Amino acid sequence: MKAARLHAPGDIRVEDVARPEPGPGQVLVQVMAYAPYGTDVGTYLNRGGRYVKSYPVGIGADFSGIVAQLGAGVEGLAPGDRVSALALDHCGACANCTKGRHNLCLDPAFRTPARQTCCEEYTLVSARKLAVLPDAVGFEDAAMLAGPVDALNAFRRMRLEAGQRVGIVGVGAMGLGAVAMARALGLEVVAIGGSGRRSDLAGELGAAHLFPIAAHGESVAERVLGAFPEGLDAVMETTASAWGMDEAFAVAAPGARVALTGGGDLPVSNWQIVERELEILGVKAGPGQVEVLEFIARGDLSLRPTITRRFALDDVAEAFTLLAGPQARDVGRVIIEIGETA
Ligand SMILES: [Zn+2]
Repeated sequence: MKAARLHAPGDIRVEDVARPEPGPGQVLVQVMAYAPYGTDVGTYLNRGGRYVKSYPVGIGADFSGIVAQLGAGVEGLAPGDRVSALALDHCGACANCTKGRHNLCLDPAFRTPARQTCCEEYTLVSARKLAVLPDAVGFEDAAMLAGPVDALNAFRRMRLEAGQRVGIVGVGAMGLGAVAMARALGLEVVAIGGSGRRSDLAGELGAAHLFPIAAHGESVAERVLGAFPEGLDAVMETTASAWGMDEAFAVAAPGARVALTGGGDLPVSNWQIVERELEILGVKAGPGQVEVLEFIARGDLSLRPTITRRFALDDVAEAFTLLAGPQARDVGRVIIEIGETA
């Protein structure tokens, strides 16, 4: 089968490799669509040397496909089922898993899950990560679940209800997913960041207030506070960058809830957290895959309008050159079309 393999930072090649066999609890999935996001670009470049320890390696995590073969002991799935996959594996039996918070699985075996790859014709997936797609959900929408799943978890943790306002910092792949999820829940969106086409896409997804940046790293916090002088009561940070952390805490009102989805140093001291009574909420992916698929099936959420380019698997190097280059500011989502959809 064909598979994309990284051989060095910025060196991705499509090669012939053996098709893997599913072990116990695993499913072999024929990949149909793969949608790279920020983490994949970090892996492609091996930013900071922290993504890849040895080469060659596969890439990709957010995908949809068709069940090809079941490993021993897998129940509830059949060859031919159309599926999407969660980011995190889990045991399915611990206290957190049984109450639906399987992104916080307590089993030590799942604390550091094996890296998922999907930029290949077939991939192995733990059966517990898979959800069967409703008939109305296409492969492209099902390959872009990570942003909405994280955002649904963030908005629930921030106890947001329809009609309330939320700031979303960053309008990359994760941020656009958050904007779409917020609109599906009836939230009023303040989209912070994005230059070029990406900010426009946030508007097209229904963000009511846009604060684009003119250049990488520019702060728009003062303009946001000009429009909302008391600050924002709820802010979701989606960029895992120093810029994003600074913007999120600069626009947070006294008493605000701030949801964090990744790294970057906290720009507030303990005392500032106390003085401002900030609620800082960690968001580790989310358990809402099936719920997000239902939003898509009902027609309440779609990221397809954000797709600006599609590439065949053979052209994956061109796709990553685009995503890692200066033109990325004008790129929404990119889809790598892998299986034959006809
Ligand atoms: Zn568990």
